[in-house]
Amino acid sequence: MSSSNPEAEPHAAPPAEDLNPFHIARQQFETAVRYLPDLQDGLVEFLIRPDRLITVEFPIETDDGVRNFVGHRVLHSKVRGPGKGGIRYHPDVTPDEVRALAAWMTWKTAVVDVPFGGAKGGVACDPKALSKRDVRKITRRFVSQLGDAIGPHTDIPAPDVNTGAETMAWVYDTYDMMHPGRNNLPVVTGKPVELGGSYGRREATARGLRVVAETALEKGLVGGLSSLEEADVVIQGYGNAGALSAAFLHDAGASILAVSDSQGGVYHPEGLDPRAVSRHKRDTGSVVGFDDARSLSNDDLLELSCDVLIPAALENQIRADNAPQIQARVVIEAANGPTTPDADRILQERGIPVVPDILANAGGVTVSYFEWVQNIENEQWEAETVHRKLEDKMRRATADVIDTHREINASLPELRRASTEHAGKRDAGGPDAGTLDPVDLRTAASILAIRRVAHVARQRGIWP
Ligand code: NAD
Repeated sequence: MSSSNPEAEPHAAPPAEDLNPFHIARQQFETAVRYLPDLQDGLVEFLIRPDRLITVEFPIETDDGVRNFVGHRVLHSKVRGPGKGGIRYHPDVTPDEVRALAAWMTWKTAVVDVPFGGAKGGVACDPKALSKRDVRKITRRFVSQLGDAIGPHTDIPAPDVNTGAETMAWVYDTYDMMHPGRNNLPVVTGKPVELGGSYGRREATARGLRVVAETALEKGLVGGLSSLEEADVVIQGYGNAGALSAAFLHDAGASILAVSDSQGGVYHPEGLDPRAVSRHKRDTGSVVGFDDARSLSNDDLLELSCDVLIPAALENQIRADNAPQIQARVVIEAANGPTTPDADRILQERGIPVVPDILANAGGVTVSYFEWVQNIENEQWEAETVHRKLEDKMRRATADVIDTHREINASLPELRRASTEHAGKRDAGGPDAGTLDPVDLRTAASILAIRRVAHVARQRGIWP
């Protein structure tokens, strides 16, 4: 029944959160730019706008007849080097999701300081409802229609949600058929080790996340929690990022209290054996039903009391509606974009630090860079070499983000003055330019990344 006087409504629903991933990526960028008053307006716009979005539509012949698919590839920035970013197969893939993921890749490659820009791709499809042959045909058609938009020195794909080493082998093979007679191995990373892949790439995201977690805890990010030893950990998403993070953190002495996948979660107060859970998922298709663990929903899992919460599935999992209920002492983002800006604000107010995706899950792209270098050099490094180089990069990047966080928060009075002077000059300044709040780690990481990209953009100059 509608009210005759809507203004008298005592509990009007709060405005719904904008969950469009590209709007979120833009909002995060604009927040960071407010702390960089020296950036020129035109440069600000250039840094967030994607260089290129390609959409391709194609049919494939499946066992059930001809079906049509839509795929996208976004090159967000090539300022610091060729575009780099995964290919995702998921029913919810949209141009704006791919735009956001590509922008996050630009900031991520800058945070870990590897000489790449940012890119991403995806095909809207449900691989679980398709045969392996269909997925291979989708991959081949997608790559062939992208044509020279990808290449060893222009835009280099890698695995993401629902794609892996086998998919990357098909990407390589298709590109190699289209460009015979040259070394095409560096066109894609995350390949099988026997086909130019790097040792350590499969577990790189998780290994990197462990190093970031250890370094951040050692540096005092969470009062009273200085190591992973005996930390209670909860992980949402049990694929490449989630399952391998569970194994690495378990090996570092943490107790994996609960894990989940798209079908639901499992919880054991004394901790789960992540490798046994992985075997159960391999045999049954899900973590659900594991041994004597208790079942719980993904929503309940996110609100469990724990030391470390690791979202490792998809975007927008921690939002304004559930952030007040999060009971973790720190959130470490294995997934890209799992926390919305409203949730970030709530967690910051509640004193729960969020180690952002563009740092926490950057181990994957770091070893992808090592794979690319090995392919260009026709070399294969020992696993130990890859691990050591990865650990160095991740430790340095974590220290850089924490240093930037301290530096910005220590210089707020000067920044507020500079920001007020620039108010009105650009949208990101705005009327409240002088009211800069202390930054969280995401904004600090973004500031670090934007500075690095802007510095190179200025060095190169705008062509012509
Ligand atoms: P994956 O396909 O290997 O695994 C995804 C997991 O998430 C699966 O277990 C799936 O069941 C689960 N999942 C899907 N929807 C869910 C939901 N609504 N609730 C709970 N679980 C759900 O993918 P991945 O490579 O592990 O990627 C996961 C996240 O990590 C993505 O955000 C991806 O962009 C990010 N990431 C991956 C890498 C990498 O190297 N693979 C690197 C950096 C970031």
